[in-house]
Amino acid sequence: MNVPLSGPDITRAEIEAVLSVMESTHLSIGPRVEAFEAEFIKQLGVKHAIAVNSGTSGLHCLVKAMGIGPGDEVITTPYSFVASTNCLLFEGATPVFVEIDPKTFNLDLNQVEAAITPRTKAILPVDVFGQPMDMEAVNAIARKHNLLVLEDSCEALGAEYKGIKAGTHCDGAVFAFYPNKQITTAEGGMIVTNDDRIADLCRSYRSQGRAITGFWLEHERMGYNYRLSELHAAIGEVQMHRLDEILDMRQAVANIYTKKLGAIEGITLPWIHPEVNRMSWFVYVIQVAPGIDRDGVMTYLKSKGVGCRPYFTPIHVQPYIQEQFGLKAEDYPISADVGSRSIALPFFNRITEEQIDYVVACLKEALTVG
Ligand SMILES: *Cc1c(COP(=O)(O)O)cnc(C)c1O
Repeated sequence: MNVPLSGPDITRAEIEAVLSVMESTHLSIGPRVEAFEAEFIKQLGVKHAIAVNSGTSGLHCLVKAMGIGPGDEVITTPYSFVASTNCLLFEGATPVFVEIDPKTFNLDLNQVEAAITPRTKAILPVDVFGQPMDMEAVNAIARKHNLLVLEDSCEALGAEYKGIKAGTHCDGAVFAFYPNKQITTAEGGMIVTNDDRIADLCRSYRSQGRAITGFWLEHERMGYNYRLSELHAAIGEVQMHRLDEILDMRQAVANIYTKKLGAIEGITLPWIHPEVNRMSWFVYVIQVAPGIDRDGVMTYLKSKGVGCRPYFTPIHVQPYIQEQFGLKAEDYPISADVGSRSIALPFFNRITEEQIDYVVACLKEALTVG
């Protein structure tokens, strides 16, 4: 049996939406992007939503709009996808890594204040694997030290911590729509903010630095082409209408895994903070016990047709980061350890119980063979 690691959930409605854009001949800067943005504003209750062509470009726009640049330090997590640090490097800012909580794998807020210096300008927490941060606690630290807060919610669309939706309680946040994310536009991202100035700047950076109300060939500042096309926005709008249904399906898949993996020795299952009242499952990541050959387990799973991946190889052990900042894996031992023992199992909306049974059986074999 072949069970892929992930897969998009595209229905007839998304296909029809793309066809209707093709037939309209209005392929970029048009009503579908506006409708996609309006859906975020409605469902998240934020003031502004700005669609962009990837999560990474959204993060870059936000960093620039917040005026974060050379000489500025930003506190962030090493246990994330590289884009959450690269967006700082694009602007010459310095990422300052702070260790993670060993249970949630999110930034350990108890260690943030010790890392603040006179150069600290912002905190950039990441909602890892769809588990939202305690943003009230993040904001309390930020207010005390007069820092900006930029939330990387690329893995957590729709998640809620104590009723607060990911991405809504900060100066700006970003969601992403690569095909393995909860909703997809093939490639794409969305910036959300309640700050008018940040929103205006992000809109301008997205489209070549144009003035928001100016003429087409008037450029107020250097900008980029980070626009999302009408075709991609049309997919996203339909996917957003289906968000509740999609998150419920993913919760159901996670529940089945948790039930079937519960009795297996040598692994730890995902731990969700009790204050998380809605999880937005991005991936299902288990940890093998210390001493178990994680890579050997993954090789075995792959030989059986079971898709799996080490989620994440931490940012501070990536070669270019180690070189630039002189870091070693042991500098952030929890992140390095969690990263070296984690395996993401096949996880997508329409995975069948039969496929899950197969994954679980193969994992059991891998743990006894390895
Ligand atoms: C997916 C993701 C991004 C953005 O990725 P893109 O491929 O640029 O859309 C950023 N941060 C995290 C944590 C992510 O998982």
